[in-house]
Amino acid sequence: MGVRKLGEDLYLYPGSPSTLIKLHEGKAVLVDVGHGSGRHKDLLREVRKLGSEVKALLATHGHADHISVAAKIDTPIFMHRFEFSIAESPLNRELLTFGSKAPEGFLVFQFPHEVKVHAVFEWNDELFGLKAVKLNGHSPGMTGFMDEESTVIYAGDSFFGERIIQAVGVPYLVDVELFKASIMQLHNYAIEGFLLVPSHGKIVKGEEAEKLLEFNLQRVEEAEKKILELLEQPMSISELSYHLAKAFGANVTPQTLALNQVPIRAFIAELYNRGMIEAVIEKDLKWKVK
Ligand SMILES: [Zn+2]
Repeated sequence: MGVRKLGEDLYLYPGSPSTLIKLHEGKAVLVDVGHGSGRHKDLLREVRKLGSEVKALLATHGHADHISVAAKIDTPIFMHRFEFSIAESPLNRELLTFGSKAPEGFLVFQFPHEVKVHAVFEWNDELFGLKAVKLNGHSPGMTGFMDEESTVIYAGDSFFGERIIQAVGVPYLVDVELFKASIMQLHNYAIEGFLLVPSHGKIVKGEEAEKLLEFNLQRVEEAEKKILELLEQPMSISELSYHLAKAFGANVTPQTLALNQVPIRAFIAELYNRGMIEAVIEKDLKWKVK
């Protein structure tokens, strides 16, 4: 498996996440190095084949599957300042994806080590020929990287391929409105002709990109609608997670049900703040429509 050329000095190494390789002033910058025992060797080999060497690492966000190989590549890693402590602390990572320390083997991907962040950046900063673009909602500081010359955006987990959404039911997000706003932003970029590269899923452009983004947005809106329907009866977060997974025909496993409780809590916050639902105690903390 080799790299795919995306533009002038711009390549993609496949994986889940896939890794973007940007050659800047002759040296390589890697975005989302990913995970896996031999991945660092594969990446270093591909960079050597391009006649270059790695000078810096960037990450779209601090989820374990995006950064765990960084610890094996002796190169400074740069993160958005909202993601810095998520990368640095394995406990913060579990906190973000589970809500507290997680039972072993319970998260989709666990990486129990620290990743030392070299420096933090802001959205709109220029980093090694790439522009940091605000695409948060999936995580607090989720960042896309734009190569304006090649009209490519590496979009991280700000949107997902159809297959992943079908499998989990609800796209993973921690803030519904921010996630939606990022999808709209990506939609504008798609109309401007940008090639969109998700971390997990296939590269899309033009009409195909617009359709996939609409599918992501629709799924968020359907989830909101289904939650309101389900909450005609008082229900706990955990019950909602089960019924929503069933309604979307998603995989019903302990891991999926636990993970989906995070976006569901974000939906609950949104609906509660809009005055559409209330909290009731019925042998548990439950929520119901007003
Ligand atoms: Zn993620």
